[in-house]
Amino acid sequence: MSQINLEVVTKHCCLLGESPVWDDNQKRILWVDILTGEIHYYYPDRTEHKSFKLDQMVGAIAIRESGGLVAALKSEFVIINLNKEKIELISKVETFLSDNRFNDGKCDPAGRFWAGTMSISNKRYAGSLYSLEKDFSVNTKIIGVSCSNGMAWSPDYKTLYYIDTPTQNVVAYNYDIRSGSITDSRIVVSIPREEGYPDGMTIDTEGMLWVALWGGWKVIRYNPGNGKPLHQINLPVSQVTSCIFGGDKMEDLYITTAKTGLLKNDLIAQPLAGSLFILKKSGFMGIKSFEYKG
Ligand code: CA
Repeated sequence: MSQINLEVVTKHCCLLGESPVWDDNQKRILWVDILTGEIHYYYPDRTEHKSFKLDQMVGAIAIRESGGLVAALKSEFVIINLNKEKIELISKVETFLSDNRFNDGKCDPAGRFWAGTMSISNKRYAGSLYSLEKDFSVNTKIIGVSCSNGMAWSPDYKTLYYIDTPTQNVVAYNYDIRSGSITDSRIVVSIPREEGYPDGMTIDTEGMLWVALWGGWKVIRYNPGNGKPLHQINLPVSQVTSCIFGGDKMEDLYITTAKTGLLKNDLIAQPLAGSLFILKKSGFMGIKSFEYKG
């Protein structure tokens, strides 16, 4: 596969672009700028870009089945009506941990919304992974997380893959779709430091993992069955944060990036840092983003 189909989606550059979500009903791609508290959305068919600015950071978003979005803001779960620009609080978490904020999040195949936290000052093991249930209750799934990041569920819904960035690993858990319980963690992919820091992640219909590599200038497709890299997408920017498949045939790979933390010289060398990229007709197909059923 060549990379001639890699393009920038819009001219907008995020400070910390993250949480790309394909909304198949409205045929649009959504993503956030965590640090500026912005939700961006783009309709590829009519090349229209819109955004909504919140009054706080936004770690992750997902589509809500009954309309609108569910989101993990700095330390709270909310429902968002994008058209009316209205926000409704569901639940606060970690209110006693002011240094923490939500980071990556995603819906599971049963319609729960999972999101994890991290310490803003990068304290180790200060974060946790939570699930927002359909009845709006919140469960703690993993504690002692340093930087909660990529999540993906296997096509048979029996495995959760998860990334706590500083571990350099993708870990698999046995996942029970009915209860949402996760058990028996084991490392399935170990990523050498020189490749970058594993950040956001998605999965394709073959069950292979696509891991964005912060500081790594690329996304790598891994086989979780043997931990081996299969394929690599190179980007013209170093801080690659996450990716998701979308488009009419679920074969376009959208990739978010960041410019935060880059020095002046880096920014000159990487004028597209913070852009949303698209790899059209990637040659692979993704699984549609799950929706929140609460
Ligand atoms: Ca991330």
